[in-house]
Amino acid sequence: MPVIEMKNLGIEYVGAFTRTPAVRNLSLTIHTGEVYGLVGESGCGKTTAAMACVRYLPKGTLLTGEVIFLGKSILGLSDSELRHLRGNRVAMVYQDPLAALNPSLNIESQMAEILTTHEHISARAAHELCREMLERVRIGDAERVMRSYPHQLSGGMQQRVLIAMALLLKPALLIMDEPTTGLDVTIEAAVLDLVDDLRREFNTAILFISHNLGVIARLCQRVGVMYAGEMVEEASVEQLFKSPRHPYTLALLRCIPSLGTDKRTHSLWSIPGRVPPLSSLPPGCVFAPRCPLAQPQCTEHTPELQDIGQGRRTRCMFYDQVDPVAFDAYLGERMATQRQAETEHERLLTVRDLKVYFQPASGLFSIGKRPMIKAVDGISFDIARSGTLGIAGESGCGKSTTARTVAGLNPITSGTITFAGHDLNQPVQKRPRSILSQLQMVFQNPDSTLNPQKTVEQELLRPLRLLGVVKREQESEAISQLLKAVNLDDTYRQRYPAQLSGGEKQRVAIARAFAGRPKLVLCDEPISSLDVSVQSTILNLLLRLQQDYDVAMMFISHDLGVVRYLSDNVAIMYLGTICELGRADQVFTPPHHPYSEALLSAIPIPDPTVRQARIRLQGSVPSPTNPPSGCRFHTRCPRKVGAICEQTPPPAQEREGHIIYCHIPWEELKSAQTTQA
Ligand code: SF4
Ligand code: SF4
Repeated sequence: MPVIEMKNLGIEYVGAFTRTPAVRNLSLTIHTGEVYGLVGESGCGKTTAAMACVRYLPKGTLLTGEVIFLGKSILGLSDSELRHLRGNRVAMVYQDPLAALNPSLNIESQMAEILTTHEHISARAAHELCREMLERVRIGDAERVMRSYPHQLSGGMQQRVLIAMALLLKPALLIMDEPTTGLDVTIEAAVLDLVDDLRREFNTAILFISHNLGVIARLCQRVGVMYAGEMVEEASVEQLFKSPRHPYTLALLRCIPSLGTDKRTHSLWSIPGRVPPLSSLPPGCVFAPRCPLAQPQCTEHTPELQDIGQGRRTRCMFYDQVDPVAFDAYLGERMATQRQAETEHERLLTVRDLKVYFQPASGLFSIGKRPMIKAVDGISFDIARSGTLGIAGESGCGKSTTARTVAGLNPITSGTITFAGHDLNQPVQKRPRSILSQLQMVFQNPDSTLNPQKTVEQELLRPLRLLGVVKREQESEAISQLLKAVNLDDTYRQRYPAQLSGGEKQRVAIARAFAGRPKLVLCDEPISSLDVSVQSTILNLLLRLQQDYDVAMMFISHDLGVVRYLSDNVAIMYLGTICELGRADQVFTPPHHPYSEALLSAIPIPDPTVRQARIRLQGSVPSPTNPPSGCRFHTRCPRKVGAICEQTPPPAQEREGHIIYCHIPWEELKSAQTTQA
């Protein structure tokens, strides 16, 4: 039964002198118990279209066409009817749960308010219903969570609370807008399982917006791909991933690094150009300026969304030429970015038994000395000249602390860091200038590192001067070259950060890192806040710069697909320690450390035909102030072998440089994981 039907929906923002068509001619239907995925880059109109389901749009927005909810048009509803619809029949879950929760009310008050406002039931009955719903979203300690305030809960727990709140009134339609973006991969997997279970249990129709195709493949039955305000393809999830019929869909699929690929065998595709501004769309097919299959007719005629059988629709005139095999061959020709230089096996960075402990900030009422936070607790690794070490693990595992300590931003508690033969045990202020220029860092959020008051030129000039890289008369040319290296032109010189997109800011941050001619660049989650197509651009850019400038990289990411793609060697960290270390091909082939195994099983694979044997880790990461005895992973390990795991630190088992810290013998681990796979 259709729950929501959009028919030729048009959404236009009308200004005093302008009209901006945000969504054009959108038609889609979502049935009970169906998860419908809406994908596309930022600015494609996904969220705007979803908001039209409940007419949550800014004043002055013009809606045309039809939106029918359970057989009734919502475009003609009065304000009070709309309020009733939003509160009772349609619920929404957004990306940032903390922003959606009221920080000054505890969870019970926020949940109960929904019930007492819409259902007029007693406080006692509301309490019971809230507890029951929290238990249904698998919150074990519901009473405690109800008494908690939002900031006292983890991100995953906050998102579960929001889902429970959304389901309290048993809505017919649930709109989820990037609900797992920003969550760790294991928490994301748990939230997706939960959404799937709840869909079955409540038979709710779900509109699921995501830029992550792996998530879409895991959860959705049908998928609509949006580009520049239009739907360009619609199909069942299996059809879409197996044989996309629009070049944009195929290009999106080729932007994702997956576990089977690495930089030696596959180049990541970056869709050239950007989504056009909605106020000045190109003539003909709006995707033509970026389309690898574009032909002269594409700019002369506007393609319609046509039915191509088997319930599929596409907006491409040449859809029968969209062939993944031919496309891959084309990519192979165009993207000869494979690295030529052999990795030199000379060590550039050597870290031995590094410990970084912090004194926790004392609270207003804390008495006496509090236990130290053991953020990094005895790790050792090397990075070869021109090589890449990828470090992966959940939030709080110590990977960022490791990078910041190597960069000199955290003091070392004990252990040694040696860089190109120099002792790096001093903080950044005491390091010689030659070392500063050779060791640079790229952070996750360029906003926090670019000075909003400085132009791009000033940002790049600073390291050039400070580190004495070139003579004064060569500075301007050096800036041009840096901009060119990150695919920006001289028109960007006078722009301020506020005038740049997220991807452009990160390019400037990367150019700044490379300005000092570094030997090692430490990249701390440099792509996680960017769109998927921008992510691949930045990854390819980093790879090219690494090759051109011959630098080594430490690349930190919670995305194992990205780590696999980029890295020569990989370290998996858990609670301040390394639990597995080796060449990338070794770490991604059994035997795995049980923690690596769980992380690998939690990665969404962008192929709906692949059913993963998922390992759900119980509980959360223990506190680094009081880490578990023996093996740190024993409180959550699905393969725990007994008391030895709790009492004795696991030994390092090593084969050809591949190290796993575990009490389970190597061959036993390998045989269990190979059979299971
Ligand atoms: S119509 Fe032409 S430009 Fe548009 S997607 Fe198809 S081939 Fe590309
Ligand atoms: S040592 Fe024990 S608890 Fe730790 S990973 Fe191995 S089996 Fe699991």
